[in-house]
Amino acid sequence: AKKQRIDKILSNIGCGSRAEIKRYCKYGSIVVNGQTVSNPGLQVDPEKDEILFNGEKITYREFVYIMMNKPDGYISATFDKRDPIVLDLIDPSYLVFEPFPVGRLDKDTEGLLVLTNDGQLSHRVLSPKKHVPKTYYAKIDGVVTEEDIDAFEKGVTLDDGYETMSSQLKILKSGEESEIELTIHEGKFHQVKRMFESVGKKVVYLKRLSMGKLKLDESLALGEYRELTEEEIKLIE
Ligand code: URA
Repeated sequence: AKKQRIDKILSNIGCGSRAEIKRYCKYGSIVVNGQTVSNPGLQVDPEKDEILFNGEKITYREFVYIMMNKPDGYISATFDKRDPIVLDLIDPSYLVFEPFPVGRLDKDTEGLLVLTNDGQLSHRVLSPKKHVPKTYYAKIDGVVTEEDIDAFEKGVTLDDGYETMSSQLKILKSGEESEIELTIHEGKFHQVKRMFESVGKKVVYLKRLSMGKLKLDESLALGEYRELTEEEIKLIE
């Protein structure tokens, strides 16, 4: 990677302001490749040089990619006046990278949520031209039928007149309360809930299982998260 000032690198990852880093240099709190740094303007390669800050090794990188099993009750946004947000669940050591959710899940929807500070990836994944598939598991109040499968396959008309693209509905259990899996290739506001409303049924529980080829790691409990692997990052788009 290209060389940058040590004070800039450290302030970027949340170690303090440039003025504070200058003071840390005076105290001898910063060590690069075994040598105490006195000059805050020292040029350092953040990926190759070994940087210690107060004795702790710094891992510098540009992007973070996180998979969360979103719980009910949290807003998929970076700010909310009233309700808790998904970022409240994330350790401050990640927050310095300023991750944000890639697309939104409703407050009461659970399951796979990707958070990143990679704006370009987010943009590509959400682009209406890309049709990245998203698969949901849902419990439905009402009997889901073969007719619903056909209707969703052809496309249904939502309450605002929007015609949905073809989607794939799988019935896991049909009854008074049905269980289904639905794969959609777009992401309109409350899309899954509104699709079921269009056939006279109500979603009572909704969970996202996958985005692109990326599947929710079922070992994550609700509210837990982990970083994505290099391979997993590629599976999203
Ligand atoms: N469709 C919905 O209705 N809600 C979600 O959170 C996601 C898809």
